Amino acid sequence: MRFQAPRGTFDVLPDQQPYWRHLIGRLHHLAALYGFQQIDVPVFEEVELFARSIGEATDIVEKEMYIVGGKEGDSFALRPEFTAGTVRAYIEHGMHVWPQPVRLYSIGPAFRRERPQKGRYRQFHQFNAEIIGEQDPLADLEVMSLAWDLYEDLGFKGLSFQLNSTGDPKCKPVYVKALVAYYQDHLGEVCDDCRRRIQVNPLRVLDCKRDQCQPVIAQAPRITDYLCDECAEHFAALRQMLDDLGRPYTLNHRLVRGLDYYTRTVFEVWAEEGLGAQNAVCGGGRYDGLAELLGGPPTPGVGFAAGLERIILTMQDQGIAVPPLPSPAVFVAHAGADGRRASVGLLTELRRAGIPAVSAYGDRSLKAQMRQASRAAVTYTLILGDEELASDSVTVRDMNTGTQERVPRRELVQRLKSSLK
Ligand code: AMP
Repeated sequence: MRFQAPRGTFDVLPDQQPYWRHLIGRLHHLAALYGFQQIDVPVFEEVELFARSIGEATDIVEKEMYIVGGKEGDSFALRPEFTAGTVRAYIEHGMHVWPQPVRLYSIGPAFRRERPQKGRYRQFHQFNAEIIGEQDPLADLEVMSLAWDLYEDLGFKGLSFQLNSTGDPKCKPVYVKALVAYYQDHLGEVCDDCRRRIQVNPLRVLDCKRDQCQPVIAQAPRITDYLCDECAEHFAALRQMLDDLGRPYTLNHRLVRGLDYYTRTVFEVWAEEGLGAQNAVCGGGRYDGLAELLGGPPTPGVGFAAGLERIILTMQDQGIAVPPLPSPAVFVAHAGADGRRASVGLLTELRRAGIPAVSAYGDRSLKAQMRQASRAAVTYTLILGDEELASDSVTVRDMNTGTQERVPRRELVQRLKSSLK
C-alpha cells in the first residue's frame, strides 16, 4: 500500500520554501508597518461559530467545512477562514476595552472541501488582517492599502481593485427584495443553481459564472442604486480617498463575495497571471454586524484575507525571483577512524560559531566524500585525516577555485567566519 497526500493538499518541498520564507517575511514586515499585531486562533472551532458568521446558506457552510469529531461526541469544524475566529477572540478577551481599533493579523492554514484545481486547494494558507472597532472609511482604505502594498511590494504586475458596497441591514434587504423580484421574472432564463440561490442566498446569483446567466446578471438591479444615505456616504468617502491616492479601482456591482457577514465595502485585488487572465488574489470587506451576531457588543470591523498559494503561483507565473535560503557553507570530510572521531568535535564547534556545516556519514572513501561535498554546493570542504591530526591542523579546500591549504586548528573557525561573511 502506498500513501499519498490527501486530494487537494500538497507538500511544500525544499525547493519551494524560498517563496514561502520570503512571502511570510514580507507579510510580518508589512503588518508591522501598518501597526497590526499578530494573533493566532485555533485551527478548529465550534461549527456554529462559522455557521452563524459565514451563513448557513453559503457554499462554505453547506458543503465545504471539515467536521472533526471528538470521542465525547462533540464536533468541531476546521477553520475555513480567519475572520470568525478572530472576532470570537476579540469578544472572548474583552478587546473592546483595549484602545480602539484593534488591528490583528494571522498567518496559517485554512480548510475547505472544494473541487481542487490550480490555485484552489482543500488545505491552503491565508494571511488575514482585520481592523476591529472602527467604522471610519479610512479603516477600509488602510486594509485595502495593506493588501495593495503586499502585492506591489512583491513585484506583482497588472494589479487592480474590484470594489463594491453591499449596504447595511437597512438598505441591503430593500435591494435583495428588488433582486428577487427581478429574478422572478427571469427564472426561465437562468441555471438551476441560480433558481435555488435566489431562494436561499439571493446575492450569490450575481456571482454565477454560467454563460446562460450572464445576460440576466447584466440587466439586474445594482446595489449601489439602493444604498441608504449613510452607506452611500461611506462608500463615496472611501472612493474619494482611493482617488486622492491615485489607486485605480473598478466598480464591480457583481462583487458580493460569498460570505453573509459583509456589510458596506467589499473588495478584491486581481492580478494578471502569466497568461494575462485576471485572478482574485485576495478579498475582503466590512462586517459591522458580525461581533453582535456572535454575542459581543456592536462593533464595526473591516478586513481581508489573501491566499498564500495563489500569491506564490502568481509570483512564479510572473517570473518574480526570491532570495535563496542559506545552504550549508562547509562540508566536513574525514579519512580514517581518528579523523572521523575528530570531525564530530569540529562540526559542533563550527555550528556553535554560527557556520552552517554538514558531515559525511558512513565509511565512504575521501574521493566519494568530495563528490558529496560538491553536490552539497558548499563553499569549503574541511578534511581531517591522520596528517592533519598529527599537526593539529585542518585542510581547507575552496570548492570554487579547487585550491587547498592547511590551516592551524585554533585559527580555523575565525578564518572561516571572516571569509564566509
Ligand atoms: P475568501 O475567504 O473566500 O474571501 O478567500 C480569500 C482568499 O483566500 C482568496 O482570494 C484566495 O486567495 C484564497 N483562497 C480561498 N479559497 C481558497 C482555496 N480553496 N485554495 C486556495 N486559496 C484559496
